[in-house]
Parts: sequence; C-alpha cells; structure tokens
Amino acid sequence: MGKLQLEGKIAVITGGSSGIGLATAQRFVAEGAYVFITGRRQTELDKAVELIGSNVTAVQGDVSNLADLDHLYATIKASKGLVDVLVANSGVVDPTGIADVTNEHYDKTFDINAKGLLFTVQKALPLMGKGGSIVLTASIASVKGMPGYGTYSASKAAVRSFARTWTVELKERGIRVNTLSPGPVDTPIIDSQASDKAGADQLRSLFSTMIPLGRMGRPEEVAAAALFLASDESSFVAGIDLSVDGGMAQV
Ligand code: NAD
Repeated sequence: MGKLQLEGKIAVITGGSSGIGLATAQRFVAEGAYVFITGRRQTELDKAVELIGSNVTAVQGDVSNLADLDHLYATIKASKGLVDVLVANSGVVDPTGIADVTNEHYDKTFDINAKGLLFTVQKALPLMGKGGSIVLTASIASVKGMPGYGTYSASKAAVRSFARTWTVELKERGIRVNTLSPGPVDTPIIDSQASDKAGADQLRSLFSTMIPLGRMGRPEEVAAAALFLASDESSFVAGIDLSVDGGMAQV
C-alpha cells in the first residue's frame, strides 16, 4: 500500500456534516488525517461522526458567529494543539433575481460565504505552522452568468479575491492558499434551492444539460480535488482556482 497522503495531519472542515464537506472528511480520514468538522446542527454532526467512524471530532457552531469560531479553535488547541489543513467549505445559496434581493438575503449570503470564511481563516492562523494548506470552497458561479445567482456569485468571487491576497500575505509563513470551484454537484444544497422534490429533480436535469461531461458531479469527486490541494502532492501550487465542474466553466 502506498503512503497515506495526510498521515498524522490535523484538518478542519467547516460544513463537514453533509455533501462536499462530509465526503472530504471521509476521504481525509481514509488518508490518515484527524478531522474536526463543524456545522450548525448537532443531529447532523452526530450522523456525520457515525459515518466517518474514527479520527473525527464534531464541534457545533455557526461560521458567521465569531464566538463559535473561537470555541472551535479553542477546542482544537486544547486537544491537538495545531491545524495543518483548513478546508473552509461552509456555504449557502438562495437563488434570487436582482429585483427580489433584500437586505436580509444579501447579508445572510455574505455573512456566511464571505465574512464567515474570512474569520474562519483568520482565527485558524495562530494554530497553523509552516507548510500548512488552506482550501477555500468557491464556485464556478463566480465566473458564470447564471440568472438568480448574483449575490451568491459575488460572495464566491470574494472568496477568490481573498485567496489571491492571502497567498501573498501568508507566503512568509509557508502557508498555501487555493480555492476549489465546484460546478453543480449532487448534494443537499441542490434540494435547498427548490421548494419540492420535483423542483429539485428539474434543477438536476437543467444543470446536467449545462455540463460538458453530461452529468452532475459527486461529492467524492470534489473531495479528491480537496485532497490534492490539502496534501504535499500540491506543494508548489498556490493561489490557484481548481474547477471541478465537468468542464462547465470552460464553455
Ligand atoms: P451542503 O448544503 O451539503 O453543504 C453546505 C454546508 O455548509 C452544510 O454542512 C451546512 O450545514 C454548512 N453551513 C451553512 N451555513 C453555515 C453556517 N452559518 N455555519 C456553519 N456551517 C454552515 O452543500 P455542498 O454542495 O456540500 O456545499 C459545500 C460548499 O460547496 C458550499 O460552500 C457551496 O457553496 C459550494 N458549492 C457547491 C456546489 C454544488 O453544486 N453542490 C457548487 C459550487 C459550490
């Protein structure tokens, strides 16, 4: 058997109880990491811990709440002392056309996708040492014009901008920052965009027709890309955006 790619590493994955975050946690543990997952709902976290099986701790919290982030990192500091890999993956989407955007819609999207991600990273830094890797989940929505996705796209474009800046700011510390941009991937976030199952199925069909590979992605396929960016396999990769989208952003 080859060497495990994250042997002995401590990883934090926000939004780790479902979809891409959960698949990433499962893959990281399979590759030898100890993972801390976060999410807002304890019941979801408990289910995820059961699925992941071992080498995992769940810390309940909201990434848009600074006290929750402090609690997350205090827990990690007390038990493991450091963070090698951070996957800032929590995100929400609520498709809303420009005419219907409200203050609340805008604030919620940015509070979680942009501001929450910023403080997730800032508060991890004191625990990170040389050679650490930060992976931020953006979206191909940040480079595609998609009706209803204006606020979400802008929040994910902010993630790309953060990554460029932090790549330079953190170079002295040897911490690499990269973004992952999934295309449509079959996770609960798809269901969250429709009012019922028929609507969600319609959305899945629509997305599939927009993707050159002719199907939606699977969470494990994004997890594999996250593993590459998290591990030493990408030791000379910094500041990039890696699309995992079946070619959608290229056409
Ligand atoms: P998901 O809904 O399964 O995962 C999102 C996770 O974020 C959930 O675990 C949720 O609990 C967590 N989260 C949301 N708000 C939070 C908050 N305030 N505090 C803490 N956690 C919070 O969907 P997913 O597809 O796995 O999404 C993961 C990431 O991938 C998101 O950032 C999403 O924007 C991005 N993404 C997804 C797709 C896709 O098609 N699935 C495409 C592009 C980008």
